[in-house]
Amino acid sequence: MSAPNIETIVSLAKRRGFVYPSSEIYGGLGSSWDYGPLGVELANNVRQAWWRWMVYERDDMEGLDSSIILNRLVWKYSGHEDTFSDPLVDCRDCKSRLRADKLEFSGEPGAPKIGGVAEMIRQRRIQCPNCGSKDLTEPRPFNLMFRTHIGATAEDDPESLAYLRPETAQGIFINFLNVLNTSRRKLPFGIAQIGKSFRNEVTPGNFIFRTREFEQMEMEYFVRPGEDEQAHQEWIDACYQWYQEIGVSAENMRLYEQPKEELAHYAKRTVDIQYRFFPERDEEERQWDELMGIANRTDFDLRTHSKKPENAEGKRLNPDSTEDLSYFDEQTKQRFYPYVIEPAAGVNRTILALLMDAYSERTNEKNETRVILKLKPAMAPIKAAVLPLAKNKPEIVGMAKAIKRSLQPVLRAVYDDTGGIGKLYARQDEIGTPFCVTVDHQSLEDEAVTIRDRDTWEQERVKLADLTTHLLQRLKPEA
Ligand code: ATP
Repeated sequence: MSAPNIETIVSLAKRRGFVYPSSEIYGGLGSSWDYGPLGVELANNVRQAWWRWMVYERDDMEGLDSSIILNRLVWKYSGHEDTFSDPLVDCRDCKSRLRADKLEFSGEPGAPKIGGVAEMIRQRRIQCPNCGSKDLTEPRPFNLMFRTHIGATAEDDPESLAYLRPETAQGIFINFLNVLNTSRRKLPFGIAQIGKSFRNEVTPGNFIFRTREFEQMEMEYFVRPGEDEQAHQEWIDACYQWYQEIGVSAENMRLYEQPKEELAHYAKRTVDIQYRFFPERDEEERQWDELMGIANRTDFDLRTHSKKPENAEGKRLNPDSTEDLSYFDEQTKQRFYPYVIEPAAGVNRTILALLMDAYSERTNEKNETRVILKLKPAMAPIKAAVLPLAKNKPEIVGMAKAIKRSLQPVLRAVYDDTGGIGKLYARQDEIGTPFCVTVDHQSLEDEAVTIRDRDTWEQERVKLADLTTHLLQRLKPEA
């Protein structure tokens, strides 16, 4: 089973310290969330798994960490200043601000196409989801980039205007030549980056699904023009497979081919991996939303940031760039702008999908319902909990604490003696700890401990000398 809805995860996340509403003591800050002691471990595991898979396990990949605030010209030439906007609609009655492309049109399943929204609003055929009014303004573009000002200048000085990046990708494109020259790579190769992005979303919400500050794991894979379509398909398949490897079940994922009218200005083809984030919705089609997108960005970005391309009148398209981001192919002796395949995933949506998919309930012999978070061991925030069976026995407590300390350099372990053993097991099940290591009276004599498995509740006796190797074996990513 998986979680029946996001609300179940919101409450578990807060209760157990995965995710808290941000700035709560001041009334919160709409749709901002803070990652607690368990959330930060889970997020680290997601990032590490992605980096290992994307960078270390391949021979054609480099990593990068570019700045969040870039020269404003980056966003001018990438097209974000002009086009990175959502269509905004106001309700004249309750003053809600709404995203036109997410409004529902009674009479037709799903949302209307953006072009048709204005007409439907004029005909008063769309209503405000908050108050039911049909008195809505026409859609107008609202740029999603967060603005800031650089240096000690006046707030309204246009020269100081800068943006917080809305995607990590542009930091990769503007470093293409740097990485190419320093790493001496040949096509095809990729540059991977993990980092925060910011979008002033019109309607954030659904917990960590849509927030204004979030983290992306993006990779730009540079190929020869003509080899792009095959590389694109290979990345779609590889990403779909990777999500299963980290614990997202295939029945809660699907591929969605973006129709032409939905494609971003730079994209030739984009396929999203969707997850069933809303299983409680009656209409199957509305249960799905984007987990990640895999786009064929063509040569748009490298070309647009280059100084050479000219228009029909021989005028430079980019008079500000000082470099040409083209590639010279030694084999064919040709110079061209590589095509780019971009798998772009969200850390936060990945965490939400993992938590929803891992959620399960089980009834114990006392007929109590227990939550078990069946995370893959490699993703679990805590790998082993060391529990003393009797907390009033100093020898047992001492031995348990020593075991925790010996495990800690190798894997994330905790010690807990704040309850009876049944309660301690239940707590660890609920946060997804795959193994509980119990120290009992007999341990003092036979130098062995009991390992209890989270999913089967089965117990196994293991010699102390073999404990670390035993746990590491069972924690392997493929386990
Ligand atoms: P959406 O259509 O849901 O707004 P998008 O198509 O604009 O998403 P991309 O630009 O493709 O998103 O970004 C890549 C990934 O970054 C998304 O698949 C998602 O996982 C993550 N992401 C994008 N916007 C947000 C957000 N506001 N909050 C959390 N994650 C996000």
